Amino acid sequence: MSDITTVNCPCCGKTVIWDKNSPFRPFCSKRCQLIDLGEWAAEEKRIPSQGDLSDSDGWSESDNPQ
Ligand SMILES: [Zn+2]
Repeated sequence: MSDITTVNCPCCGKTVIWDKNSPFRPFCSKRCQLIDLGEWAAEEKRIPSQGDLSDSDGWSESDNPQ
């Protein structure tokens, strides 16, 4: 029974046994999983939205049927 697969936690590098007893794999713990997800969310927020200012002037007129 030396058929154990292990991975390294992407967050802290700790060895994690890849089986059903490790629900947060490939992370070692829920904490590391949340940290990693938080970093992804921060990456998305860092992307600036463009084109909002130039379009905001005309939308109210096109919404008016007259
Ligand atoms: Zn970890």
